Amino acid sequence: MTQDQQRGAAPPDVDVVVVGAGFAGLYMLYRLRGLGLRARAFEQASGVGGTWWWNRYPGARCDVESMQYSYGFSDELQQEWKWSERFASQPEILRYANHVADRLDLRQYISFSTRVQAASWDEATDLWTVRTDKGDAVRARHVVMATGCLSTARLPEIEGIGSFGGRTYHTGQWPHEAVDFTGQRVAVIGTGSSAIQAIPVIAAQAAQLTVFQRTANFSIPSHNAPMDEPYEQEWKSDYPARRAKARAQHTGILRNLNDKGALEVSEEERRAEYERRWAVGGTAFMVSFNDLVLNEESNRTAAEFVRSKIREIVKDARTAELLAPKDHPIGTKRICADTGYYETFNRPNVSLVDLRSNPIERIVPEGVKLADGTVHAVDAIVFATGFDAMTGTLTSMNISGVGGETLAEKWAAGPRTYLGLCSAGFPNLFMITGPGSPSVLSNMIVSIEQHVDWIAQCLAELRQKGLTRIEAEREAEDKWVEHNNEVAHRTLYPRAGSWYMGANVKGKPRVFMPYIGGVGTYRKICDEVAAESYRGFRLGEPAAVPA
Ligand code: FAD
Ligand code: NAP
Repeated sequence: MTQDQQRGAAPPDVDVVVVGAGFAGLYMLYRLRGLGLRARAFEQASGVGGTWWWNRYPGARCDVESMQYSYGFSDELQQEWKWSERFASQPEILRYANHVADRLDLRQYISFSTRVQAASWDEATDLWTVRTDKGDAVRARHVVMATGCLSTARLPEIEGIGSFGGRTYHTGQWPHEAVDFTGQRVAVIGTGSSAIQAIPVIAAQAAQLTVFQRTANFSIPSHNAPMDEPYEQEWKSDYPARRAKARAQHTGILRNLNDKGALEVSEEERRAEYERRWAVGGTAFMVSFNDLVLNEESNRTAAEFVRSKIREIVKDARTAELLAPKDHPIGTKRICADTGYYETFNRPNVSLVDLRSNPIERIVPEGVKLADGTVHAVDAIVFATGFDAMTGTLTSMNISGVGGETLAEKWAAGPRTYLGLCSAGFPNLFMITGPGSPSVLSNMIVSIEQHVDWIAQCLAELRQKGLTRIEAEREAEDKWVEHNNEVAHRTLYPRAGSWYMGANVKGKPRVFMPYIGGVGTYRKICDEVAAESYRGFRLGEPAAVPA
């Protein structure tokens, strides 16, 4: 007789509900099935892939090398898949996600085009009821939120968007049919990573492109290229060892970290190192020296180098000055990797509008109207304005825990989690790459695999011990939140008005959300917590059902 039968409660419909079928949801499902647990996943999109299903804008690709931005849990998978480029494009990453779903036979467990609207906890039975927009009400012992950190696209608070006479697009909700800008006048609003990838491609197609910039961003050329066969073979012949090494790194990425500080070397040596890194390309520029996000003066040398490159590349001096970021330390907003971004501003059909000196007043039927009355008439507007990152998807889902408190209420002053995995008052609910974990500061597939493995092991142990409940303790959570803040404030990161800080969403609390202590360190902490009988968690059997 099961515990539920012993206390007269109806058994759950499934052991685990997984929300989301991106890289996190897919791997979670695979592990749950491997444990013999009954799992069901809900995905609001009509296919797998998450980020790579939604972000189909021109130029979308990863900026962690594909040999590393891929699953490492299965040697078969990593040996058989062939990446065609150093940094894979969105269509190729989406093909990979589909290949994984088919190869592991996961689709049968996923309800697509089904949005989870609410999840509520029942204290008497230790069960969640998960409700969807298709009318499902599924009772599950555990819920895993594999809902992504960058999955709630946001339009800016600009008036009049609905009045625009042409087509509008958001990079994070790009249409599935081909978008052809040939002959059109196009506006791109935003200059973050998405815009920096999209702008060169749109510029090559459109008759005229106007880029509306509020904050200039630092970008490093990616020097993307077709996959080099010997390089691929080098990785494949040593994959398990390389993956293991990457998992112990600060960012979960194997790259050539300089063990010297920027000020420990002469100016010539420093410049030579930056030149060398610039020539190699990609975001590893930020590990040119070991103190670039810790020491303001060191950071300034790297920032000045990139600004000097922008001035070299961009021919119009005024445009170059506008594109050269000066208001935040390099790397404290997500560093970008591009293909011909700065060069694009030398094209005769591209112009840059500085919104700092002349903000957008509103969108009008013809286009974008600025504060000084100028109207930029366009046929299409691309909003590359980012996401309600890390918390937006979770707090909008109506998750209610012990005593009916919702996650949105609990997180009103900023997210509170223990290890970025669980939140006190929400028993049996796990988050993959939740706030308070390295997540967006890392190779996210490495962080996803680490969380999934930890959760799978935890569920297996609970099951083995006949326990039906796990909940983070408030005290452990408070300490973790404090530690998270303390580590963040040892760095330069909180100096930038970034989405890491919630600064891109009006009214969102300013809290540094990801854990910056490093992927390797964080993994050790999580492993120790598990080894010490889940230190900081309360484990339990179901409360007796009142007669
Ligand atoms: P997601 O891929 O976001 O998947 C979450 C899924 O949950 C989505 O499909 C969503 O539809 C679904 N969902 C959410 N809410 C609900 C609900 N209520 N009901 C049902 N379904 C729901 N990371 C890197 O490490 N390297 C990179 O180079 C990189 N490039 C990126 C480029 C772009 C354009 C973006 C936006 C992000 C990038 N990232 C990158 C981060 C990327 O999000 C992660 O690498 C990874 O794909 C996240 O996987 P996930 O499964 O955790 O989340
Ligand atoms: P983002 O970094 O948040 O950039 C949004 C841009 O829109 C910023 O330039 C922002 O300006 C601007 N913006 C927002 N509201 C505005 C307004 N009202 N008026 C004018 N401008 C406004 O979003 P993103 O580019 O989509 O990238 C989000 C994250 O996704 C990245 O940081 C990265 O983690 C991931 N990503 C990765 C890649 C990759 O290369 N692998 C590519 C795309 C995305 P302010 O800075 O002034 O707010």
